[in-house]
Amino acid sequence: MSGPAGLTIVRDVAGLRTQVKAWRAAGRTIALVPTMGALHRGHIQLMETARAKADAVIATIFVNPTQFGPNEDFGAYPRQEGKDASLLTTAGVDALFAPSPSEMYPAGFATKVSVAGLTDVLCGPFRPGHFEGVATVVTKLLLQALPDVALFGEKDFQQLAVIKRFTADLDIPVKIIGVPTVREADGLAMSSRNAYLSAEERAIAPMLFAAISKAAAAISKGAEPAAAVSEAKDAVLRAGFRSVDYIEARRSDTLSVLKKGEDGGRVFAAAYLGRARLIDNVAVG
Ligand code: AMP
Repeated sequence: MSGPAGLTIVRDVAGLRTQVKAWRAAGRTIALVPTMGALHRGHIQLMETARAKADAVIATIFVNPTQFGPNEDFGAYPRQEGKDASLLTTAGVDALFAPSPSEMYPAGFATKVSVAGLTDVLCGPFRPGHFEGVATVVTKLLLQALPDVALFGEKDFQQLAVIKRFTADLDIPVKIIGVPTVREADGLAMSSRNAYLSAEERAIAPMLFAAISKAAAAISKGAEPAAAVSEAKDAVLRAGFRSVDYIEARRSDTLSVLKKGEDGGRVFAAAYLGRARLIDNVAVG
């Protein structure tokens, strides 16, 4: 099935495999960019990076029910496939794979991909089952498309770490590429969930990035990580965030707690502003 000029829209796994087979026969390399839609410039950056890495780019849009908790925003999550298809066409994406929930999870579906350790920290305890949902759906998408490379944003840094872990552990023959976070001019990390913010909340939102950037700068100058992140937490609450799930300094590779003076750190945050749960992270140094 064809979408806007140049973009092929595929709804089922068989159609995806037919498309991939044709590209393989023509000797083309393939990049996969999984998303949940409601596309913004952060997603488009992934598409453009994908085009530079492979001959053909497949974007996927699937609001994956299994990665949302019972009290989370699955129902409210923004859906705008027509607009997304135009954005993907403009970005030079070749195919959009947009399956239905029943195509991804037919009756009787019973398998989960679970990653230990990396999912026990940060967002893990606050979103039980979330990373299993992500790991399972991304495993399926990778095996359905069998791309050469797949691209994911550093905005979801823990997700990227989890995906790198299970692709290595399960010998899935794909190179996982992380793409730096794309931000608004005031520093706010672009996110489909920013659409939930009122004008007043939108004005407060950049304080999260400002606070973790300040903490990261202090840590790189030798501050005690625990003190720096505690100060960031206070600043975010003072700015008007409703609650903070966590602001923590951890190692980028293992996500273990960062010790004072240790290299390779990152400050990670998740906080509620109104009904929006915003996450962000920045490198130390
Ligand atoms: P989502 O649609 O929110 O599931 O995101 C799909 C992909 O886009 C994930 O790999 C995200 O990490 C990535 N992404 C989302 N927001 C940004 C951003 N602001 N900058 C870079 N990548 C992003």
